Amino acid sequence: MIDVDKIRADFPILKQKIYGKDLIYLDNAATTQKPQVVIDSIAKYYSELNSNVHRGVHFLSDKATTAYENSRSRIATFINAKNSYEIIFVRGTTEAINLVANGYGNEFVKEGDEVIVSYLEHHSNIVPWQMLCQRKNAVLKVIPVNDDGELIIDEYKKLLSDKTKIVAVGHTSNSFGTKNPVKEIIELAHNAGAVVLIDGAQAVQHTKVDVRELDADFFAFSGHKIYGPTGIGVLYGKESLLNAMSPYQGGGDMIKNVSFELTTYNELPYKFEAGTPDICGAIVLSDAIEYVSKVGLDNISEYESELLKYGTDKLKEIDGFKLYGNAKNKASVISFLLEGIHPYDVGTILDKMGIAVRTGLHCTEPLMKRFGIPGTVRASFAMYNTKNEIDALVDGVKKAKKMLS
Ligand code: PMP
Repeated sequence: MIDVDKIRADFPILKQKIYGKDLIYLDNAATTQKPQVVIDSIAKYYSELNSNVHRGVHFLSDKATTAYENSRSRIATFINAKNSYEIIFVRGTTEAINLVANGYGNEFVKEGDEVIVSYLEHHSNIVPWQMLCQRKNAVLKVIPVNDDGELIIDEYKKLLSDKTKIVAVGHTSNSFGTKNPVKEIIELAHNAGAVVLIDGAQAVQHTKVDVRELDADFFAFSGHKIYGPTGIGVLYGKESLLNAMSPYQGGGDMIKNVSFELTTYNELPYKFEAGTPDICGAIVLSDAIEYVSKVGLDNISEYESELLKYGTDKLKEIDGFKLYGNAKNKASVISFLLEGIHPYDVGTILDKMGIAVRTGLHCTEPLMKRFGIPGTVRASFAMYNTKNEIDALVDGVKKAKKMLS
């Protein structure tokens, strides 16, 4: 069970008034708000710890390095990675995927090979693979979706062959909330001899993720979507694969020895962490994760499902409301349109009522094209949202409809 009042008290931004009205923040799939422990942890880092890592012999550098590496271990435990050095700190999901598309893709994808993504993917999990395929003269294949926004697994099976080198799919869709059967997707890819990257940007804040239980080869997520800071994220990769890959970027920290003739690379995880990392972000991310773990992902998941059902049922009563994404297994995202009304107009009116939703393509242009729509209005719920806020959303949508019809 969740004590939502207690949770809300931890998030200072939620106390704000927007246009003189209470802020109702329903854009959590874009980014989540930060609890006070995370805000304090940032201030603590710069007040007490700030120093570069892995470089200095001095006291502060040692302290910062210990905190940075402890954070890596805590994150490994959070997703059940076998070794902490399988956790690479990156800027976010986007950088993690680019790292694999370059580091793994450049090494192992050859002309005529195939890479599979799905219609549900965020642009971050399409474009890096498209660029790889262009570089290598490889072929990008796409798993289709049904009208409920679920992947058609029988079609996926048909796409797999011995040409498939990489399958890159999202765990949970940011646009429609669809939770994909990732374990099955991974098993099928492995049977075809392909490696799998799971885009977990919309997963770890809603559901327990165990990378070993899933047998994921790569798993990416962003700190800012799990109540942590922007600018920090994680790439998990299996040790054997990370070792086989070439580095993505060159610079300090990722090297063992440098000469003008030949440079040798550092061991994991440093081989993939060129330059001064976001030390503060990495440390604070594990504090955000600890906060989430204390509330409990099972509790969060149960509560958000309740909000999803409550909101969906109420919004469906509105004449002209059309839901996009009606998967049986769904995260707390409601994507919708009002008949004959542009999503941007609905979003603008809701904003004036203090209600923050996202409108547009949600960085999933091919998916929107598949449904023949100019985008949607998207309300995405987090653990601090309430049924009262959903009531306000429903009233707001009704008012917007009246004004725009
Ligand atoms: N994948 C998904 C499913 C996402 O929702 C997002 C962010 N909206 C990303 C990738 C990209 O994440 P980031 O911008 O933090 O790199």
